[in-house]
Formats: sequence, structure tokens, C-alpha cells
Amino acid sequence: MAKASEIEDNDSFKMGQPYFCNECGRNHTKGKIYKEHLKYAQFESNSEEDEQQEITELNEFDEKELTDAFNEIEKEESNYEDENEIEDNIDSNIEDIPNNGESIQECINAVKQLPGVGEATLNKLIKAGFSSLESIAFTPPKIIQQESGLGDKTTAKLIKSSMEELNIGFKSAVDVWEHRKNIARITTGSQELDDLLGGGVETGSVIEFFGEFRTGKTQIMHQLCVNVQLHEEKGGMEGKALYIDTEGTFRPERIIQMSEGLDLDHNIILKNIVFGRAYNSDHQILLIKEASNLIKEQNIKLIVVDSLIGHFRSEYIGRGTLANRQQTINSHLHDLLRLCDIYPDLAIVVTNQVQSKPDVFYGNPIQAAGGNVVAHGSTIRVFLRKGKGEQRIAKIVDAPHLPEGEAIFSITENGISD
Ligand code: ADP
Ligand code: MG
Repeated sequence: MAKASEIEDNDSFKMGQPYFCNECGRNHTKGKIYKEHLKYAQFESNSEEDEQQEITELNEFDEKELTDAFNEIEKEESNYEDENEIEDNIDSNIEDIPNNGESIQECINAVKQLPGVGEATLNKLIKAGFSSLESIAFTPPKIIQQESGLGDKTTAKLIKSSMEELNIGFKSAVDVWEHRKNIARITTGSQELDDLLGGGVETGSVIEFFGEFRTGKTQIMHQLCVNVQLHEEKGGMEGKALYIDTEGTFRPERIIQMSEGLDLDHNIILKNIVFGRAYNSDHQILLIKEASNLIKEQNIKLIVVDSLIGHFRSEYIGRGTLANRQQTINSHLHDLLRLCDIYPDLAIVVTNQVQSKPDVFYGNPIQAAGGNVVAHGSTIRVFLRKGKGEQRIAKIVDAPHLPEGEAIFSITENGISD
């Protein structure tokens, strides 16, 4: 998977929009960064010929004029440094999110302590991505067997002892409440939308945004990738985002604009987004399986899948393939739900397309694609539709704890807002 900052999109240069500059190897947009580049390019673009001419011209100056000229340049350079200092101050709002190297070793050590785990078993488990007690305890035995090649008795024993070690079993509802009280949330950028969601996008659930095209699904996904990196008191989780793009609509330019809207250093924000383009449904499933290894290591707190079933819809055509398609989507969704169980401080958001139901006479003929499998798989479902101009309307369709309601938000150049 590539870092978002490594993605260049030179073809998309349009006036007024951000673009990647080959000249100085940075991304530029409107406003201060663009101005900074103009200055930067001015210093650099002087060709040798220009320089030669300048020297000749300088030789022709008398000494007083020469001192004046130097003073002028010095003044300009110190102004330039001041500007940079201000930018540095703004940049300190956000920090590089470090990897979690030590805690992975701790997880592996815990697996090593399980009874009957020798060097060979441990290697097989790690290779198959089961490097923590949680990943063993929450994965169905069949899947562990398939992927690690271990026998059924060994697998059963491993799961049982991992569960014992983690104290998984019945617990009091007070404990569940204690956990839910401390659940972390990521702000969407719009207070109204946050309120509708009970305080923002929550961890431990799969949240689905569905709606027609241009209703803002992809924009919300981009904004959450920026916001998850914010400090807690600003509505973030100080974690990285992992973006699985199945439609080819991820745009680093939008991340830059949204970062600028929040006065954040876009280079750091881009670096903290791990990006994977899924070229088909099998690849998409594989990326999520690979992702489970990255979450701890890279400190990932948000996974985005945009969109969840686009590939499945285009690959499984015809009535005959329906059962197979639904089964594959179901198992993919369960891979995602399992990640929520294994990593309680991880939020998962997915987008979904809609289909028109011509046989619906009363009520909304527009329904989320994927049928009951997706409807039962995602924990919270939000329906998006267009309002006036840049306004969009979000409606909670299904949530275990939220009342049905609507929120109006806007999509602006700086991202999602009220
Ligand atoms: P979808 O639901 O199909 O994923 P998007 O999330 O891509 O839709 O939303 C597209 C809409 O977002 C556009 O119609 C436009 O209103 C808005 N939008 C996209 N980029 C910008 C921008 N740079 N400035 C303002 N609005 C934008
Ligand atoms: Mg989209």
C-alpha cells in the first residue's frame, strides 16, 4: 500500500485547484502555500545566464548602491523567515503519528505464552496474521485453519486458551456500560451531523453512508481521514487512517484543502493516511485481511472502504450468481466486524451505492444496495440526499441506540461543515 503523499496526480491540474509541483516537489494550493512557492520558484528559476548578467550589472554598481541592494535582499529574506516561523507555529497543531513497534512485540509475546505454542506454531500464526490473542479469540476456527495451516485440534485449543486469557465470557451490563461511556468518537466536521450520530463517528461499529452519487459520501470519507488525526479535545483520536478505494475517487488534493481549512500541515496529514486501491472484489477482500496486520503496527484508528460493494455488483452479474455474491459480501462484512471486536478503538466507515426499486409504490423507492446482508452487517446506516446548493441531508435509517432523525450539513471547499 502506498502513502497518500506518494500519489501524484499531475493530470488533474486546474486553475484554483491544488496540484503537485514538479519544480519544488511539493503540493500547492491557493493562498499562502502558493505564494510561498512563487517566491521559492523565483529564487530557483534564475538561469545561469541571468546570474551572469546580474554579476555584470552588480559590477557596474558603485559601492553605496551595492550595500543598499544587499540590505534590501537581507530584509526580504528575514521577512520570508518570519513567514515560515508563523507557518511552523500552525504546523505544531498536528504531529507525525508514530508506529507502535513495541506493542506488537508485546502481543506476539502473549501468543507465545499460550500452552502448546512452540516456535513452528508461532511462526505459522504470525505469517497468517494472527499475532495477538484477540485476533485468535475472535476469528472463526475454520478461517484460522485455512490461513495458518494448523490442525483443527490445535486451533480449538488456541482459541479456548486465548479466550480464557482475555476473560471473554458473560459480563455484567455495568461493564458494557462502562465500556460504551468511554467510547471514542471522530467528528465529521459538522456539529449537526455529529449530534445525529450521537457525538460523531463511533469506534467499535461499522457505519454505512449510502446515497445517490454526489451526495457527499466520498467527501465525508476524506474529512474523517483528516479529523481522526486531530487531538482528542478537537474531536479526533490522534491516529492514522487506512483508505480502501474501490472506485478510484480518492483525491489527495481534497485532503490538502481540508487540512488547510483546519490550519494543519497537509504533508503530515497525507503521510498519516495509508492508501490502498482495490482493483477487484478479491483484491478488496485481500486488502482488508492485510489491513488487520497494519492496525496495531501503524496506529490506525479509522478504516474507510469507499465503496463497499461496487466491485461485487459489477462482477457478479445475473440471477444465478446472486447467492454466491451475497455470501462473499457477507463474509467480507464479517471480516470488518471482526476487526471492530479485535480492536475496540477502531472506527470503520463504508459507503454504499443505492438502487431504485420500481416496485415500491409508497415510501422511498431508493434503497441501499447489497440487500439484507449489508443491512444486517452494518451497525449504523445513514442515508444521504441532496439539499439546496452545497447542502446535504443525512438521515439515520437504522441504529441500535439512536433515534431516527435528520441533519443538514454542507460540503465546502474546506470540507464538511454545518
Ligand atoms: P459521492 O456521494 O458520489 O461520493 P462526493 O462525496 O464525491 O459524492 O461529493 C461530490 C460533491 O462534493 C460535489 O458535487 C460537490 O458538491 C462537492 N465538492 C467536491 N469537491 C469540492 C470542492 N473542492 N469544493 C466544494 N465542493 C466540492
Ligand atoms: Mg463517491
